[in-house]
Amino acid sequence: MAESRKVAVIGAGASGLVTARELQREGHRVVVFEKSNQLGGLWVYNPRVETDLLSLDPNREIIHRSLYKSLRTNLPRQLMSFSDYSFDCAENGNRLNFPEHEEVLKFLNEFAKDFGINELIRFNTEVVRVAPVEFGGNRWVVESKSEELSSEEVFDSVVICNGHYTVPRVANIPGINNWPGKQIHSHNYRVPKPFKDQIVVVIGDGPSGLDICLEIATVAKQVHLSTRSSEIEVSKLDNYENLWNHSKIDHVDESGEVTFLDGSSIHADIILHCTGYKYDFPFLETNGIVSVDDKGRVVGPLYKHVFPPKLSPCLSFVGIPYQGIVFLMFELQAKWIAQVLSGKVFLSEEEMLADVEDHNRQLEEAGTPKRHTHRLHPQMEYMDWIAAQMGIPSVDAGLKEMYWSIYRCAGEVGYANYRDLWVFDNLAKLSL
Ligand code: FAD
Repeated sequence: MAESRKVAVIGAGASGLVTARELQREGHRVVVFEKSNQLGGLWVYNPRVETDLLSLDPNREIIHRSLYKSLRTNLPRQLMSFSDYSFDCAENGNRLNFPEHEEVLKFLNEFAKDFGINELIRFNTEVVRVAPVEFGGNRWVVESKSEELSSEEVFDSVVICNGHYTVPRVANIPGINNWPGKQIHSHNYRVPKPFKDQIVVVIGDGPSGLDICLEIATVAKQVHLSTRSSEIEVSKLDNYENLWNHSKIDHVDESGEVTFLDGSSIHADIILHCTGYKYDFPFLETNGIVSVDDKGRVVGPLYKHVFPPKLSPCLSFVGIPYQGIVFLMFELQAKWIAQVLSGKVFLSEEEMLADVEDHNRQLEEAGTPKRHTHRLHPQMEYMDWIAAQMGIPSVDAGLKEMYWSIYRCAGEVGYANYRDLWVFDNLAKLSL
């Protein structure tokens, strides 16, 4: 008979919500801890920013969300659906393929309502400590704080779904301590207005970096996009009067100059770091069994990015890998955890440890930097593998095709336009 466990889920963002649903479907008893007053995690827009715009001051008030006001999804709504709950049906009428962030929040609220997840969530309740009752045992204590009250509760398992877009990573720039300009991390970017008439250097050409660059170019005097590459020649972007591409920054100095490896330099007012985030589990106590390494970029050891071999299956993580069709990945990881906890799928500590070593060896042999441990691109094989563990269908082939069609489209029409110009010929064939 399937085993029912009492499970704590930390976080009521997209990953926590679908995890709660899968655990409940599998017959587990679920409590979701959510530190804020509403569900949706990252998709709840917060106009406030942190007092330290680089988010380095340890005493600052932490703002969880990193959404900017104009954000539209970087995937079409079909790729942000769950396997049996379509984002398509959320609203009818004149809808964008790539919706604005408010619509994603609405979708997540409807999902939670339709599956009775709201009743499982303890809002305004921050988890401050998660630790095994005893090492080698099967029970975990979860300490949480709600207003001024602290409480402790013992669970059979804990699933961590706390998101990883809150603790910024900042570029290391020679000379920065004496540079007189202003610095900000994209975590604290909301609207372009403060950049009006400024000369801005944006570091990082990921989706946020590109979105923000194009947006501030509408008001700034000049925008200089600096990427990791040392080989790029300085060049003006087609169709923009005030936007340049550069290599990595070489150094900055006290006169305000920013000098790039491409040999060019400019006198800048602001450096905007779109340089990503660190994994962070400030509440987790595992005696060093699970750690965050490589300056916040690697969590481990984790079997398939989910289970720490020595603490599984009682401790698990949803949402660690990035890039790809993340909502569907959350769902598959959650189903897998639910079935492992109920005893339908078995994990062997030895096999998990060997797999982690093998994975690390493969990265090394391929010359992949350690910082890319959790970058699964393409993520399809990973999702197929998880589905196979449970003997369930993987992600629809049409959705996979759709994912690649977006890449092709962005390559053809450019990042600035792909959301509006993307057309998918096989839309009608999708089984959504
Ligand atoms: P979050 O949404 O961050 O949720 C975590 C939750 O945990 C929060 O509600 C938080 O309050 C809670 N929490 C944290 N710590 C505690 C604690 N100690 N106690 C209690 N509660 C806690 N993905 C896409 O698929 N499409 C996109 O277009 C897209 N755009 C993105 C744009 C930006 C700017 C960023 C940063 C990410 C984007 N992503 C996108 C990826 C995004 O991370 C996922 O879509 C997803 O929403 C993340 O969900 P999550 O549940 O893992 O984390």
